[in-house]
Amino acid sequence: MGIGPGGRDQITPRARRAIREAEAVVGYATYLDLLGDLLAGKEVHRSPMRKEVERCRLAVELALAGRRVVVISSGDPGVYGMAGPILEVLGERELPVEIIPGVTAATAAAAALGAPLNHDFAVISLSDLLTPWAVIEKRLYAAAAADFVTVLYNPKSARRQVQIERAVQIFLKHREGGTPVGIVKNADREHEEVLLTSLKRVLEHDLDMLTTVVIGNSQTYTVNSRMITPRGYRL
Ligand code: SAH
Repeated sequence: MGIGPGGRDQITPRARRAIREAEAVVGYATYLDLLGDLLAGKEVHRSPMRKEVERCRLAVELALAGRRVVVISSGDPGVYGMAGPILEVLGERELPVEIIPGVTAATAAAAALGAPLNHDFAVISLSDLLTPWAVIEKRLYAAAAADFVTVLYNPKSARRQVQIERAVQIFLKHREGGTPVGIVKNADREHEEVLLTSLKRVLEHDLDMLTTVVIGNSQTYTVNSRMITPRGYRL
């Protein structure tokens, strides 16, 4: 299940019910902390970051042993989340599995910025931990050339600094330097920051692993500090 971007009131009633009915809860410690007292009385398995496969194996083992288990993802579980690896680890073994959607970072960030995703958009993760950089670069070129509004997840980390620079270079080949770019850090969490800038200035800002970047298309504009991608209505 997905718990949304962070705030308790973005957790859907269906996700809350799943937690309430669960016997065991498996997840990355930071997300479990966001749930606080919703976990009271549960068997809680906190796992460190980047131990996703171990986390899935544990959840599947608990479930096969007859336990009712929820696995927590931030945002939506099917967007760079745990839904995929859970189904992959489970393979052909039979077990009832329910995927409970959540508000993903892209739409949470978009809402904070205005309406930047109101036309066709692409989502690209800049993390090359599991995906070769050449593949990511190819997709960046394609999205930029096809004028998709583009949402970047995992834009930058302590170990990954050049990827975002490369992404901006690629977009600058296809879009004006003045193209609006929205930066949302810690959406719906403590220390939320929402910032509007442009393609040529985006690198002047502090980006990290809790940031989502939204690059406008050739039609995107800003008004009153809001980013808008027109759908095409005659107004
Ligand atoms: N399953 C998650 C995405 C996991 S990938 C979802 O659907 O939202 C992790 C990336 O998501 C982060 O590097 C960041 O780019 C983005 N992200 C997740 N939560 C965020 C938040 N609260 N604010 C801004 N970006 C966020």
